[in-house]
Amino acid sequence: MIIRLATVHLRLQEPAAISPVVGIEGTLELPRDNGGRVIIPETSIAGSLRSHLADDARRLMGYVERSGDTNNAGRTVAVSSRVRIMGCRADAGTVIKRTSTAVDPASGAARSRTLRTNELLPPGTTLAVYLRIDSNNRQADEQDWNVLYGKLHTWSPSLGGGASRGWGATTVEAVQTGTLDLTRDEDLLIWLTYGGTSLVDHVVSDVELTTSPLSGHSAVATWRKTATFSLASGLHIGSGQHKEGDSGRTPAEPMRVDHNTDQFVIPGSTWKGIFRSRMAEILGRLGAGCRRFIDAEPAPAKDAGCSPTTPCEFCLAFGVTYTEPVQLRPEVPSVVGRRGLLRFSDSVIDAAKDTCVTHVAIDRFSGGGHDRRLFTKRIVTEGRLALTITAPHAPAPGVTALLDAVIRDIDAGLVGLGHGTTRGLGSLRLTDETNVGSWDTIRRSLRTSVAEVS
Ligand SMILES: [Zn+2]
Repeated sequence: MIIRLATVHLRLQEPAAISPVVGIEGTLELPRDNGGRVIIPETSIAGSLRSHLADDARRLMGYVERSGDTNNAGRTVAVSSRVRIMGCRADAGTVIKRTSTAVDPASGAARSRTLRTNELLPPGTTLAVYLRIDSNNRQADEQDWNVLYGKLHTWSPSLGGGASRGWGATTVEAVQTGTLDLTRDEDLLIWLTYGGTSLVDHVVSDVELTTSPLSGHSAVATWRKTATFSLASGLHIGSGQHKEGDSGRTPAEPMRVDHNTDQFVIPGSTWKGIFRSRMAEILGRLGAGCRRFIDAEPAPAKDAGCSPTTPCEFCLAFGVTYTEPVQLRPEVPSVVGRRGLLRFSDSVIDAAKDTCVTHVAIDRFSGGGHDRRLFTKRIVTEGRLALTITAPHAPAPGVTALLDAVIRDIDAGLVGLGHGTTRGLGSLRLTDETNVGSWDTIRRSLRTSVAEVS
């Protein structure tokens, strides 16, 4: 028997929340082993590999389905996976924490009781995935291995949750392979001496790294929209943390910074929240869109053209969670949601200038300042940034038109980012309009697509 082993070296391009578990304080924490090291469940890897293998998944990774055979009708048939994932090791540095809230489309403000904290693996973390496939020296086995090996090079798994907020993108940096022929004594000795991931390490260790042709590029994105902005006012985006204040002062609130560069940052989740809520509002006013996407109180009754099996273009673009599990295909288990098409990346603020501002709560009766109510915030006053939205393929024209509309609304100061938008904070100005559709184009494509969805 021939045993083929491979180590796939992945690098996180974005932060990742893989299989989080609810911690003591409600924080979504990364799972850890007894030594406190972050572990990556192999199921997360298997799911991604399976979808990447597409038509070859059934043959290489097995299946469970209802028998179509008339003699055994209704019986479940299970075929095990030929590809075994023997483990995944993460070389994680310090984990990072992100807090976020949900935006209410009606008020534009954060919804109460939606503040959540996620623990994330930092971008740059390397992951080693260990694979094994056994073969009986048949030609078909050889072909299967070649298919798997080829596809590993074009794999760029999106791991864990929050893909649409710019989390979880990875690239394959290298693939190492090795072979054990159990008819040979020396290979048999290795086989009997090592096990698990150390067997793979031992066999592939001498093999030179074959750099993936896609190295450094994420195959996730083939469609991209960018817009560059400069700050038109102060901007404050909270980090969920407070610095202890002096006596008599409330704690100071720092601005959120990027994990890698320590520069101020607008997180992808902020962008996503703003675009989603503003698009829902526009659609609601136009009398279009579906109940799932608009998600406001009271919910509009429309659902025409949008069902779990055939979602509307907006649900496809932003993803959707179903209140009841939905059976999409007869042979596979039901699902509770759909992952969104669009990814909003973090935007680092370049050439930033910042300052600390204070404000005090005023007593309405006396007009004087309240005792112990001095608030201190760090705000960015100047800077440039680029918004980047990507997708594996181009979204529907109605979606791109609305994305452009929201970019223009941000430019016009109708939509603000972060904290204190009612106090003059959070305004941005477009500095480059080349990639942003004009109002004429937006109107024209909305007229067509809204007529379709309403
Ligand atoms: Zn919908």
